[in-house]
Amino acid sequence: MINLNTKEKDLQYIMHTYGRYDVALKSAKGATAFDEDGKKYIDVSSGIGVNSLGYCDDGWVEAVTKQAGTIQHMSNYFYCSQASNLAEKLCNLTGLAKVCFGNSGAEANECAIKIARKYSFDKYGEGRNEIITLKNSFHGRTVTTLSATGQDVFHNYFFPFTEGFKYVEADTADNFKKAVSNKTCAVMIELIQGEGGVNILDKSYVQSLVKYCADNDILVIVDEVQTGVGRTGKLFAHQNYGIMPDLMTAAKGLGGGLPIGVCMCGEKLKDVMSPSTHGTTFGANPVVCAGANYVIDKVANDEFLNEVEAKGKYLEEKLASLDGVKSVRRMGLMVGIELENGDAHDIAIKCVGNGLLIITAKSLLRMLPPLTITYSELDEAISILKKTINENKTA
Ligand SMILES: *Cc1c(COP(=O)(O)O)cnc(C)c1O
Repeated sequence: MINLNTKEKDLQYIMHTYGRYDVALKSAKGATAFDEDGKKYIDVSSGIGVNSLGYCDDGWVEAVTKQAGTIQHMSNYFYCSQASNLAEKLCNLTGLAKVCFGNSGAEANECAIKIARKYSFDKYGEGRNEIITLKNSFHGRTVTTLSATGQDVFHNYFFPFTEGFKYVEADTADNFKKAVSNKTCAVMIELIQGEGGVNILDKSYVQSLVKYCADNDILVIVDEVQTGVGRTGKLFAHQNYGIMPDLMTAAKGLGGGLPIGVCMCGEKLKDVMSPSTHGTTFGANPVVCAGANYVIDKVANDEFLNEVEAKGKYLEEKLASLDGVKSVRRMGLMVGIELENGDAHDIAIKCVGNGLLIITAKSLLRMLPPLTITYSELDEAISILKKTINENKTA
């Protein structure tokens, strides 16, 4: 048998749905990772906002290993304290009323879409099922969440897509109102479009949209899969906007590195779903919930969240003063960097070569560092980026 290395095996046996960086990570701690050759990297991507407490946080590791050795899985036919404790915390911290558990962001959004449509079906009957989403949004990779995603590039190959989605530019509330019809049951938005280019929605736009929806019984679904769990300097981004969603989804950073998705709803919707209308085998898994409980306990306090914002501000100021950086968009530790020249993807590959794990969002570089990143790790990240931009200029 030929002895294949990690990359060769990957290319031979794993479907090629990702263009990977040329790195095989082996071990990591905090915001520092090492590859199979022992080379060191500063990670400002945290697995796309997943490792919210960084790699292998001691308390998190202890919480999940303890739970793995106590009871690792039970079906949803039994009550689970890790899940009910997590649900209680999430409700108390948001003012929302109930949680439905799943395993990913896309699944959480599917759940929100189902709840919105069933609410409208129960109350108004058939036909009022249209959901408006925003251009440039990203809501997931299932057939329905691809449909919900307001970017034409995602609407290929897999026809027929789920019907009943309409897309509007995130510009004026009037434009949104024009798209509303007597078939509209919900609007689904990211407050900061992550994959779409770190586009921060205007506060007054969001507030007037939410007000209009409340007046017309159109449900507001806020997709906080990327913006949730401290990422923006509040526990959830909608708390920066002074709004209350009818439905909110969260996933990426919630489990601290384990797969979880939640769909939460307010009082009005808390009894829409009944037994057998939704479910998932792995949802509310005790080990995953133990990790999420640990993350929430750590993140959901002012001291921690103020520190996220302080680090974000520090990072923004340093980045904005770099030669070659045109502008910086940021909320908390969710950062988009617009370059003066050079292709962001190409620069990201060069950064990785120089020891900085960074990602892109459209034509921007994107940073989603672990919320626990230290100032010295931030300084290291900035200096590698600076060096890479300079090398690129002279190359
Ligand atoms: C990543 C992401 C999703 C999809 O989450 P998965 O866990 O990959 O299914 C949905 N919405 C937003 C805003 C995201 O950033």
